[in-house]
Amino acid sequence: MRQQEGGGAAGGGGAPTTAPVGGEVVIRFLDVGQGDAILVQSPEGKTLLIDGGRSAERMREHLKALDVSRLDLMVATHADADHIAGLVPAAALKPRVFINNGLGGSTQTWERLVAALQEAGATFTKASNQTVNLGSVKLRVVAPPPGLGDDQNENSVGIALQFGEFRALMTGDSETPATEGWLAQERDDLQGPFQVYKSIHHGAANGDSAAWLANVRPENVVISVGTPNSYGHPTRKVLDLYRQAGARVYRTDRQGTVTFRGRADGTYSAETER
Ligand SMILES: [Zn+2]
Repeated sequence: MRQQEGGGAAGGGGAPTTAPVGGEVVIRFLDVGQGDAILVQSPEGKTLLIDGGRSAERMREHLKALDVSRLDLMVATHADADHIAGLVPAAALKPRVFINNGLGGSTQTWERLVAALQEAGATFTKASNQTVNLGSVKLRVVAPPPGLGDDQNENSVGIALQFGEFRALMTGDSETPATEGWLAQERDDLQGPFQVYKSIHHGAANGDSAAWLANVRPENVVISVGTPNSYGHPTRKVLDLYRQAGARVYRTDRQGTVTFRGRADGTYSAETER
């Protein structure tokens, strides 16, 4: 286990606009091989799972090891198998709300997920740039920009997390047209700096771009990726972009699960499994 301290300077400056809140928000980028799975816990113990990786078994092991007995919110960024297969067993933890891009998948995995969520009594909600409170953690659900058809990657849902001065941004497998659409919207909630940022689309060449990174200004980038993978993720191109952006890079294939603990004053610690 390796630890790193940081933060304080990336909070955007100025006095906090809300009363100070105690405790830490914990964001775990779970090592699920090639895929995404991010577990967020508020200081009050409220839980959010964003995606579940491609293996139901692996997700079961993570939830057991972390002693997660209840989910408050579940988000599927999009319906590809490397993001939703692990959500099927997680649905047994009875999330009250399930948020996705509103596009159903065409796979048996998607059907299993819908059945498990119905069984759990979850409310299905489409991403619409709504704000959701996870205890004292504020989540902005970033809806895909309009006009991108029905491609799953293109229509990935993002989550912009804020806990006092600490901020994190996670999108799924969005491609360049989606980030260009968000940039054209000139959204404050996607304006950096972000202390924690998830590499788009496992570091694929069609995900992060210089223009997008100049906007989100990541301090730390986590690439959720498996090794070996047949896609060539992460690409040299985006690794160079992260270096040029001055970001510290973490990779789940080399370091295992990567955990950030953020405090309301904008400081944080990072810890890797190996
Ligand atoms: Zn993916």
